[in-house]
Amino acid sequence: MSAPPLAARLAAFVCAAFRYATAPSDANARRLIAKPYSGVSRASARAAIATAAERGDLRSAISGERIPLDRDAVSALRRFAAALNDVDAAYRAQGSTAHELLTAVRLAFTLDAGANQSEAATLAGLERIAAEFDAARGNGDWDASDAADAFRRIATDIPPDRQRPQAQPRPLGPHRAEPAATVARPRTHFSASSLGAYAECERKWYYRYVCAAVEDKGSSASFYGSAFHWALEQFHREFPRADAAPRDVLQNKLDGWIQTAFERFRARFETNVEYDLQTRRARRTARRYLDWFIERSRAHPFTVIDAEAKIELEMGGQRFKGYIDRLDRDDATGAVTVVDYKTGWIAESAEQYRERIAEFSDFQLPFYYWARTMQGDRVARLALVPLKDASRDVAPIELEVVPVAAPAARWSNATTGTIGIDELERAKVKMIELARRLADEPLDRFPATDDPDACTFCAYRNACRNRPLRREERFSA
Ligand code: SF4
Repeated sequence: MSAPPLAARLAAFVCAAFRYATAPSDANARRLIAKPYSGVSRASARAAIATAAERGDLRSAISGERIPLDRDAVSALRRFAAALNDVDAAYRAQGSTAHELLTAVRLAFTLDAGANQSEAATLAGLERIAAEFDAARGNGDWDASDAADAFRRIATDIPPDRQRPQAQPRPLGPHRAEPAATVARPRTHFSASSLGAYAECERKWYYRYVCAAVEDKGSSASFYGSAFHWALEQFHREFPRADAAPRDVLQNKLDGWIQTAFERFRARFETNVEYDLQTRRARRTARRYLDWFIERSRAHPFTVIDAEAKIELEMGGQRFKGYIDRLDRDDATGAVTVVDYKTGWIAESAEQYRERIAEFSDFQLPFYYWARTMQGDRVARLALVPLKDASRDVAPIELEVVPVAAPAARWSNATTGTIGIDELERAKVKMIELARRLADEPLDRFPATDDPDACTFCAYRNACRNRPLRREERFSA
């Protein structure tokens, strides 16, 4: 039997890399290293797999330098392990897309270097499919293995361009309004942010999660946020404790991760000036973040037990998914603090945040609370860490979880407060109710909110015809 053509093997490799991104297991890493394009020769891959089988998993076998090979082969293995990390991080970066993951795979495994005509055509075909996949799926959660399934369209045949007959341009006819119809359900897992958007304004949810509408220019600070989140994830994976190294070492490392992170996201910034400004802002903010991390750790020593922790769980028959920015375990009590980084708007006080939970405008921390509690952790504290303003010290909004909290002191400016388990339970029940509605009821109406405050930071403000009048405009005519 003849070997599959180059294009098919390249597409199959990219599919395997996407499957690894979805499930970064040892089995998927072994599948990937054994394929052409992994950058590792067949003999070295066999040796690495054999060593791993005897003494642990593939990545620790590589990092432990326990594979009896020459220096060049070991370097190739190290590059392969680094590429796995890059692919994994690119998928888990907030706001990642199939197109970006494909770019990360291409860079990590240097797939473009020396590509011949057929390989270049395959990469172009994969790029087109990734863009189509992103456009069809909308914003929010996605599964890289679904994208891999889409890539299989060209994994079995070549070249992609010859598969499709050229579409003939059709003359435009008279405009006819599209008949009203229900829209397709965009996902099977729900995230706290999508349910929060739905609770706040169904129209906004429709724009973001069904239409994948382009956000207003300048309304989104998500690039800054994505890069900052990624940098902190890498930093805490390397330094889970503030006493793991002297302050200047921590400072240099964090600075380095910020620089690397913004380099990774450079293409997303519209101009070099914007990129420079945001990078400097992040570096200054990161210094303040480090001050807080060290100070906090001295007062109550703790270990960061996970960063960008993936959660998937079922509640009330519905499936939910998300990522927790940081999880700390207190050295003395073993209790867990759930930490969420905020690079955009943040509540001004603990009571304001508690109120947002009570009015179902924010499900994020309640959702993380239940996710970790169901995994057996004793979650004692929920914290929002502001990372927006480089000119102010980092002062988190923190809620201590108690069985029943005192009534909210509406006008309190304190950044610390309490929240009752009963309040978190109400938020959970509401999440399940909204998820059921989205899963079971016809999706044919998406009314705009009647709360003008919801529109203040809405990313679709310019395009939205239905937004309510501001309060001061309502009675002024
Ligand atoms: S501008 Fe206001 S009404 Fe329109 S989608 Fe956004 S939040 Fe909803």
